[in-house]
Amino acid sequence: MSAPVLSVRDLVVEFATSRGVAHAVNSVSFDLEPGERLGLVGESGSGKTTTALALMRLIRPPGRIVGGSVVIDGVDVIAAATAALRRLRGARIALVPQGAMNALNPVLTIATQFEDLFAAHGQPCTRARIAELLASVGLDPGVADRHPHELSGGMKQRVCIALAVALRPAVIVADEPTSALDVIVQKQVLRTLARVQRELGAAVVMVGHDMGLMAQFAHRVGVMYAGRLVELGDVRRIFADPRHPYTRMLIDSLPGFGQRGVFKGIPGVAPSLLAPPPGCPFHPRCPRAGAVCSAELPPPLDLPDGRIVRCHFAQEAADAA
Ligand code: SF4
Repeated sequence: MSAPVLSVRDLVVEFATSRGVAHAVNSVSFDLEPGERLGLVGESGSGKTTTALALMRLIRPPGRIVGGSVVIDGVDVIAAATAALRRLRGARIALVPQGAMNALNPVLTIATQFEDLFAAHGQPCTRARIAELLASVGLDPGVADRHPHELSGGMKQRVCIALAVALRPAVIVADEPTSALDVIVQKQVLRTLARVQRELGAAVVMVGHDMGLMAQFAHRVGVMYAGRLVELGDVRRIFADPRHPYTRMLIDSLPGFGQRGVFKGIPGVAPSLLAPPPGCPFHPRCPRAGAVCSAELPPPLDLPDGRIVRCHFAQEAADAA
């Protein structure tokens, strides 16, 4: 196992609202190895996008990172001075944003957006380099002279990937990069992201809610619920034998080929982040819940197969397997 390229420890993000404090991300910790692809999944409001944005310190008020560290190259992104943070963003950790439709500047050509990025990091930017970057994501060099509105959704998302990898970052944070695209283009964009990431040797944290897409893309998966990582481990192990009841229900809710009739959902709704239930936040929806579940928050449990699970009965399930 090589040294992690990114270390996240006890990350906590809160949002101040008129009804109180929403605990969006609670004690999230994980390491990322060079070249590794980690998928963060969960329902809306589970904290996956907030976690991803916090990795780059992009949480805007009323949100606030109130604790934890995100270390890359020995520098803590959360505590870094503004100048150091500017040097890290784009060059060492870069974002492929959600909704490429709005991520690009509508009044600038694509070439100018590349030039601005390189200039912000004091690096030269040639037309040949822009053409090379566009080609790396399957786009014609002529795209450089176009404005964003002249490109399709898939092309814009590819431009965002090319911008994210332009300075050869060690970590790429991809926030639902395919959510606004149709199924065919989704697959093409994911393949492009995986290929450029491999060529670069960069690690990826990809946020998504589609377990099927994650299964094809990620090496490891982190399942989030109510702002906490409830299961983290190898993607094949998690899909073959999920140890957290929420993970199992997420996987069971995936439609199969030829499936007819009513699809299986997860009963109940995600808890309020303003006042999450006591104990395990999943207990009101959990078919496995026991008396301890509404009284005590399950601690993260390290299983022998390298997985980390937050469930009072995870060890029992591992012993029985
Ligand atoms: Fe279900 Fe209890 Fe495990 Fe929470 S701790 S997931 S309520 S069994």
